[in-house]
Amino acid sequence: MKLALLGIYHETNTFSKVVADYAAFNIYRKEEITREYQTSQTTNAGFLQIGEDKDVEVVPLIFAITGPIGTITADAFESISKEMLSLLETHGPWDGVLLSLHGAAVSEHYPDADGEIAERVRTLIGPDVKVGLSVDMHANLSRKMIENIDVATVYRTNPHLDPKIRAFECAEMIRDSIKGKIDPVLWLEIPPVVINIVKQFTDEDPMKSVMEKLDKTLSFPNIIHGSVAEGYPYADVEEMGMGFISVSDGDIEAAKEASQWMAREAWNIRDQFVGDTPSIEDALSYADKKYINQEDGPYVLMDVGDNIGAGSSADSTHILSLAKSMGIKGYLQTLWDPKSVKACVSAGVGSEVTVDVGAKTDDMHGLPVSVTGIVRTLFNGKFEDDRPTHGGFKYYDGGLTAVLDTDDDHTLVLTSLRCGNTSREQMYSVGVYPEKYRVVVAKGVVSPRPAYQPIAKEILLVNTPGVTTSDLNFFEYRRRRSNLYPFEDLASYDPD
Ligand SMILES: [Zn+2]
Repeated sequence: MKLALLGIYHETNTFSKVVADYAAFNIYRKEEITREYQTSQTTNAGFLQIGEDKDVEVVPLIFAITGPIGTITADAFESISKEMLSLLETHGPWDGVLLSLHGAAVSEHYPDADGEIAERVRTLIGPDVKVGLSVDMHANLSRKMIENIDVATVYRTNPHLDPKIRAFECAEMIRDSIKGKIDPVLWLEIPPVVINIVKQFTDEDPMKSVMEKLDKTLSFPNIIHGSVAEGYPYADVEEMGMGFISVSDGDIEAAKEASQWMAREAWNIRDQFVGDTPSIEDALSYADKKYINQEDGPYVLMDVGDNIGAGSSADSTHILSLAKSMGIKGYLQTLWDPKSVKACVSAGVGSEVTVDVGAKTDDMHGLPVSVTGIVRTLFNGKFEDDRPTHGGFKYYDGGLTAVLDTDDDHTLVLTSLRCGNTSREQMYSVGVYPEKYRVVVAKGVVSPRPAYQPIAKEILLVNTPGVTTSDLNFFEYRRRRSNLYPFEDLASYDPD
C-alpha cells in the first residue's frame, strides 16, 4: 500500500505581531523530509517508521514548518497548500494520506487552517482513501478537522516527548483499516473549557488526573484509541479549548460515551485549570532567599509571558530589569537581540561593551535594559541535542550568538535567531554551565522542563506580562465561544 506524508505545521499565536509569511517557513520536500526527520522523535519520524513494514510504502511529499509566531498570511497558506495538493495529485493514486499538522494553525482567511487543509485533501482524494491525522497536544480540535479524516492521534505528554510514538500509532491504524482489519470511527467532544498554560504539565495535577481518565477509557469495550488535546489559548478561534477524542472499532456510540465521560470528568475539576502564578518580584526573592550554594542547583524561573515555543518575541526584559534593580547575583538568561550581538562582535571577545539589550519587538515585553559587560564568547549558534527534548527535535540554530558577562554578575546569552530554551546544549555549546548559577530564566512554561528539570533545585512559573502571559484577561478575544470557562464563570456544559 502507498501512503502520502504531508503537512503544514504551525502553532499560531494570533496576538503576535510577527506574521508567518512564505519566507518564514522552512519547506522540506520529498527526501529532504526523510533526511531532516527520520532519526528524530517527531511526528514525521513516526509516520516514516510505518514504511519499515514490508507492505507499506510511505512517500514524503512536502512539510512546511515555522516557529510559533503570528497568523499565516493568505499568500503563504495558499502557496503551500497549492503545492501540497498538486504533489498529492501528481504522485497518486494513494491508499492513504498521513497528515502531519499542529492543530492550532490560523491563516488570514481560515481561522481553522488545519481543518481547511484536511478538507482540501479530502476533496482531492475522495471519500475512500484513508486519512490519518496526528497533532500536537496544544491543538484546538475542530469538527472540520475530524469530519475530513479517518483516524486522529494527539501527543499525550506535555512537554512533548511522544510525537513519534503517537504518529506511528496513527499510521498503524490507517494501515490496519486499509487492510480491513479494523473499522475506526471517532467522536470528538469539545467541552466549553480552557486550561491555562501554566496548568498543562502532564506529570502534575490537574493534567495528570485528566490523562489517567484517558487511560481508563482505553479499556472501555470497543475502544481502540483515545486522545486529549489541551488546546492553545493564544489562538483566538471559535474552537479554542480542550478536546477529547475516542476511536472505536465500528461502534460510534462507544466512542461518544468514552469521549463524553472524559470531558465530563475534566469539566468537574475545571476550577483547577485556572492559572495561579507568583509575581516576578515574589519569584526572584523566593529564589534568592532559598539558594544556598552551587550544589543546591539553580532556581529556574519560567518566563511565561515570553514563551518562545508559544509565539513570543524571546526578548522580554521584565525579569531581567527587576533582577537588576533587586541586585540578584548569579543570574543567567537568553535574549533574542541581533543588534546587541552585532555590537558584541564589533567589540570582540574579551572587550567591554555597554549595550541596551532586549525588548525590541513590540511594547508588550518591557523596555531595553542598559548593561555593561565583557564579551566572553562568540559562536555560530548551531548545536544539537541527543537527550529527550520537547517535540523530539535534535538540531537547533540560535544564529550568531554572543555571551556577555555583565558587571553585576549576570550572564546574558544573546542570539540572532529566536531559539527556545528547550535544550541545555544551547548553554553548553557556548561554554555556559547553568548548573553554576543561582537563578536561570527559561522562556516558556512546559517546553524547557526536559532540559532544566534535571538540574533545577526548583522550577517556578512566573506571571510575567507578554504575548503569552498566563493572565488571559490581558487579551481581547474576538472569535472564541461565548459560553467558555473560565472567561464565563457560570459557563455550562451539558453533553447530550
Ligand atoms: Zn505543543
